Amino acid sequence: MHLSEIINHLGENRHEYFNAVSPPIIQSSNFVFSNLDDMRTKFADELHQHVYSRGNNPTVEILRKKLAALEGAEDALVFSSGSAAIAMAVLANVKSGDHIVCVKSPYSWTSALLTRFLPRFDVSHTFVDGKDLTEIQNAIRSNTRILFLESPNTLFFELQDLKACAQVAIANNLISIIDNSHCSPIFQRPIEHGIDIVVHSGTKYLNGHSDVVAGVLCARQEMIASIFRSEFMTLGAILSSHDANLMIRGLRTLPLRMKRSHESAGKIANFLINHEKVEKMYYPFHPSFPQYELATRQMSGSGGLITVQFKTESMEKMENFIHSLKYFLIAVSWGGHESLIMPTIGFYNIKGNANNPPTPWNTVRFYIGLEEPEWLISDLENAMHQL
Ligand SMILES: *Cc1c(COP(=O)(O)O)cnc(C)c1O
Repeated sequence: MHLSEIINHLGENRHEYFNAVSPPIIQSSNFVFSNLDDMRTKFADELHQHVYSRGNNPTVEILRKKLAALEGAEDALVFSSGSAAIAMAVLANVKSGDHIVCVKSPYSWTSALLTRFLPRFDVSHTFVDGKDLTEIQNAIRSNTRILFLESPNTLFFELQDLKACAQVAIANNLISIIDNSHCSPIFQRPIEHGIDIVVHSGTKYLNGHSDVVAGVLCARQEMIASIFRSEFMTLGAILSSHDANLMIRGLRTLPLRMKRSHESAGKIANFLINHEKVEKMYYPFHPSFPQYELATRQMSGSGGLITVQFKTESMEKMENFIHSLKYFLIAVSWGGHESLIMPTIGFYNIKGNANNPPTPWNTVRFYIGLEEPEWLISDLENAMHQL
């Protein structure tokens, strides 16, 4: 199906709601059965019928159809956060005694799920360097059930070869899961490479306006039906119809926003790499990136994230630089309209205590939003005098 059809029309049965162009927010917890036959029919397929909004809601359903089609998946579920989507994908495929192979340095709360939450239920894990297929293969045991990927991740952008990983998963009878938040389905469609489950933080590019927290899980129909019957309905981490409506609106401009962020980030990467105050830059679509070849082979774009390590002698100069940036907001998250910085130095205890992060304090992650790239470069140029 054409991208334009998915974004503009798929799932929108406008004749059912006064031919309104924009879908209504169906603010209802429950739905009336017209008779007992109707009741029986609907209970037989709660995933696709309208019974109760912890299950399926008509506004949420429009969003689900669009997201599944964007990923080339048979069906999708949406959640109240990306972390919920990740947890459900994992919980649905393990039981006590099982083992998970996961790429090292995944999203922080994915890591917490594996290291702090699942051990209580006797589910263990091994972190592997996802760049090394042999290391992945060697980590697989007889009780391994899941291969968890995140490609690229969102700090130093390590990639995995998705086709090769999918083959390893198939050969070893594992469920492969990927966190595809960095690329969105516009720049990477893992199901086409043979991955089983694709999860997203919908909070980032998919919604794209920094006003909704949401999660997405795409998979084959039988997997979706099984997750729906167990984790989805029992844990109840659903997205409201209001938030679903905002996300549908966000999706209308997803390809445009991705293109803009990608093009601007490319310009800013070129500015940064040539600057005397830049020690190291990480950007998957720049030829200096170690996995550039793989990135350009399996992704059609990289989006707006760039990580930079600056040349400077003191933490004080680093702080002055951060505080001199006028157009980049200091904040976590990314994927909205606004450009952001996440400076590692903000996680440092400058009074010299322990527990500082392993990442050097001269590291800053930039998210390039939808502003004029020249305007952002002028801000960087000015502030970098502080270094
Ligand atoms: C933000 C993020 C998440 C978590 O999503 P929430 O919507 O914040 O729960 C997971 N993975 C990646 C890569 C993220 O950037």
